[in-house]
Amino acid sequence: MSEHLRETHRRRTFAIVSHPDAGKTTLTEKLLLFGGAIQMAGSVKSRKAARHATSDWMALEKERGISVTSSVMQFPYEDRIVNLLDTPGHADFSEDTYRVLTAVDSALMVIDCAKGVEERTIKLMEVCRLRDTPIMTFINKLDREGRSPIDLLDEVESVLGIQCAPVIWPIGMGSRLKGVVHLLSGEVHLFESGRNFTRQDSTIFASLDDPQLEARIGAEMLRELRDELELVEGASHPFDKAKYLAGQQTPVFFGSAVNNFGVQLLLDFFVEHAPAPKPRATTSREIAPEEEAFSGFVFKIQANMDPQHRDRVAFLRVCSGRFDAGMKAFHVRSGKDQKLANALTFMASDREIVETAYPGDVIGLHNHGTISIGDTFTSGEKLSFTGIPNFAPELFRRARLRDPLKLKQLQKGLAQLSEEGATQFFRPMMSNDLILGAVGTLQFDVVAYRLKDEYSVDAIFEPVTVSTARWVRGGTAKKMEEFREKAAMNLAIDAAGELVYLAPTRVNLQLTQERWPDLTFAATREHA
Ligand code: GDP
Repeated sequence: MSEHLRETHRRRTFAIVSHPDAGKTTLTEKLLLFGGAIQMAGSVKSRKAARHATSDWMALEKERGISVTSSVMQFPYEDRIVNLLDTPGHADFSEDTYRVLTAVDSALMVIDCAKGVEERTIKLMEVCRLRDTPIMTFINKLDREGRSPIDLLDEVESVLGIQCAPVIWPIGMGSRLKGVVHLLSGEVHLFESGRNFTRQDSTIFASLDDPQLEARIGAEMLRELRDELELVEGASHPFDKAKYLAGQQTPVFFGSAVNNFGVQLLLDFFVEHAPAPKPRATTSREIAPEEEAFSGFVFKIQANMDPQHRDRVAFLRVCSGRFDAGMKAFHVRSGKDQKLANALTFMASDREIVETAYPGDVIGLHNHGTISIGDTFTSGEKLSFTGIPNFAPELFRRARLRDPLKLKQLQKGLAQLSEEGATQFFRPMMSNDLILGAVGTLQFDVVAYRLKDEYSVDAIFEPVTVSTARWVRGGTAKKMEEFREKAAMNLAIDAAGELVYLAPTRVNLQLTQERWPDLTFAATREHA
């Protein structure tokens, strides 16, 4: 097998999705710990906590605390290379999460055993289901009293509409938690507080029939367990890899992230069964990761990762071929070759210069405003990866400066922050207003805060009569010309220079569409 194939097939690129507080951060940290990427438990956490303490604006900082420094975490495990992509938890950042999910090959869903399937989980699962992303499920906090495991499986099946295949089954729960059974290997792992960090540090029995097991958990519990397993076998589905890979079945694990318990069992199973990099659709053909020619797309931009240098990093997922430091790549949207110098790799929390990267890997490109979310880079072929949308914002505000002399700074800040994709920036053709669109209200607070923090601009956002935005295309040049003239009052240019119709009301939009049947009014702008 060629080096390229070997490297590609050992990649596992995924994201963890959960409702806030289910334990995503804790689990992330434990995975990094098992992967040897960090030395001490608590570092991901304490960063989150420190952020929390130093500002009152925690929801946001909490997000940024983890997403800024660890948007992508790469670590080796066994003979695999794992790429874990972070997703923000707050609902107002859902677009960002959506785009991260376009860059992974599978997902891990974390559920709190006391709370079951929560609202954010449902939303995120919908996104995964759109692309048939394979999903593993980790039911967390087994050290606390929770709902019955069978109940939880039922809920996942009925609410999320996906078959459950339990791989790990708990023995007791909360104060009665004794351990877990691996349903595929038959092994029994005992829960021992303060231990369970590695296999060597755990008591493992080869099967339920080991005579010592009864001595450890008691005859009654063992009997209960056998009964329960019989029930589970009858009521649930056996693990079926093809169904898992097709997104129709989720293997289910039980454990306690904070106690390291069950995490390694999950990771072992994950690196063995989760998919290696998958083919990706483009406007012209499907790109297989095995292809030698380089290609990749940008799914996220982060402004001011290092505020001292006002840098903006574009996160590119490699889809085929190999990235080599300093290579030239064709930037399809601009039609120009670009030298990809000093690209970053993300080894756990440290950034370092990347030498080579393979399909499934994510590299960070320095961006001076020429790269946008959705951009494709190739070895020369003119193609564009599809499915990375820019949503039409639903909320609009006009930016107003407290200090009018800072207008230039304000424009720059709004333009640069909107490159991240969470907000969109519009300049009406007939006025000097600066209008910001977002999907959630928190975004305006975020932008106001960051304008001050990162650009020293004091701005407030006030209401404006815009109810929705549509990207306008098509028609003949003459029709377009006519439209530009007649509708000028409601037209604006977005950050990418495209024409946008800002409709004051839904009714107005409808009437305008009826009046201009030759033009298309698109609700999303897929960057092409
Ligand atoms: P996130 O918001 O999903 O990232 O959740 P966190 O990882 O921050 O966890 C939320 C809270 O649950 C924290 O207080 C954790 O310490 C706690 N937690 C995480 N895993 C466990 C667990 O296995 N058992 C218990 N009892 N608490 C846990």
